[in-house]
Amino acid sequence: MPLNIDHIRGLFPVLHQEVNGKPLIYFDNAATTQKPLAVIESLSDYYKKDNSNIHRGAHTLADRATRYYETTRGLIKTFINSKEEAEIIFTKGTTEGINLVAATFGRKFIKEGDEIIISTLEHHSNIVPWQILCEEKGAILKIIPINEAGELDMEAYDGLLSPRTKLVSVVHVSNALGTINPVEEIISKAHKVGAKVLLDGAQSTSHLEVDVQALDCDFLVFSAHKLYGPTGLGVLYGKREILDAMPPYQGGGEMIKEVTFEKTTFNELPFKFEAGTPNIGDVIAFGRALEFINDLGKKEIKAHEDDLLSYATEHLQAIKGFVPVGTAKDKVSVISFNINGMHPFDVGMMLDANGIAVRTGHHCTQPLMQRFGIEGTVRASFSVYNTKSEIETLVASVSKIAKIKN
Ligand code: PLP
Repeated sequence: MPLNIDHIRGLFPVLHQEVNGKPLIYFDNAATTQKPLAVIESLSDYYKKDNSNIHRGAHTLADRATRYYETTRGLIKTFINSKEEAEIIFTKGTTEGINLVAATFGRKFIKEGDEIIISTLEHHSNIVPWQILCEEKGAILKIIPINEAGELDMEAYDGLLSPRTKLVSVVHVSNALGTINPVEEIISKAHKVGAKVLLDGAQSTSHLEVDVQALDCDFLVFSAHKLYGPTGLGVLYGKREILDAMPPYQGGGEMIKEVTFEKTTFNELPFKFEAGTPNIGDVIAFGRALEFINDLGKKEIKAHEDDLLSYATEHLQAIKGFVPVGTAKDKVSVISFNINGMHPFDVGMMLDANGIAVRTGHHCTQPLMQRFGIEGTVRASFSVYNTKSEIETLVASVSKIAKIKN
């Protein structure tokens, strides 16, 4: 059954406002999605009724807060189909998840001369932690190139893999171009040479069904705020045997079993990696975001977004001076483009004057922009609450802007 988009829009208070005298059209969903009322109210309910520290209190509020917090962990287990809740670790976001793996898995298992493979499509958060690690360890960072469409060169990937490869860390879906990478193939080939695989799921988890057991990835990281949840919260999934073998990330409360001045023993998973008082209210609110997604259905959300993508692609392509950046066959509802003769920032400002929110610039993927020989792009990214009529307004606005120089 197609989704009732009018009803869905009614659940998002932020959408119902004017910007620069025009109804807001929010097409910056790859940066962060808007939040349904259930998420917003969950935050205030938590602080009004349940606020308490978790896991160690003997009183009713502590017990309630702990149960609600752990319920979200259970929802995430189902959402990505991990084997156990213990494999779900709360982080600050995708960035922290990658840094955690680099700092702990990297510290223990990466040695001088080892190789780590990433790709040209990576977000800076999946480049810089590996550069720092490689520098420290004397390891080597290798990059999978892409073609003009923004798709990975899989033959080149085959050539990069070797028994020296210890980790492949790739983005599942490119935030800048929308390309969906062939991660099944990437993972199975990496495993054949004995390497582990980390998937950056910051974009994929909001558009695709991501099943960690079916994919057989070793790590998956993602952020709640791109999934209709709060900012500053994310998830690291890891296979139990690997997480068990990794040293802790930070030391402190919660992550210990017993502390003496002579020797400290660490808590079991997932708490070993959750030092300190966590982001309790946001974790609980993230549960409401996951229920929102579950209620609509991942397949239904994707069908709607795909529909918007093909409609927008068809109409934008027809505009004189419109230059798409990234034309992969397999992509999610993200359109990156430039207008001949115009700076992306200027295009973004003119769209904003029409109430249309898009992202402009390098999208934290400077090496990818360098690959295309451009400074940046304009990126319109669509979510479940967007409509064809909003796309018509975008097309009309881009068309008018493009006429200035074309
Ligand atoms: N990786 C990708 C592909 C992203 O799109 C983003 C966010 O834009 C990140 C990593 C970083 O996510 P966060 O800032 O939530 O840690």
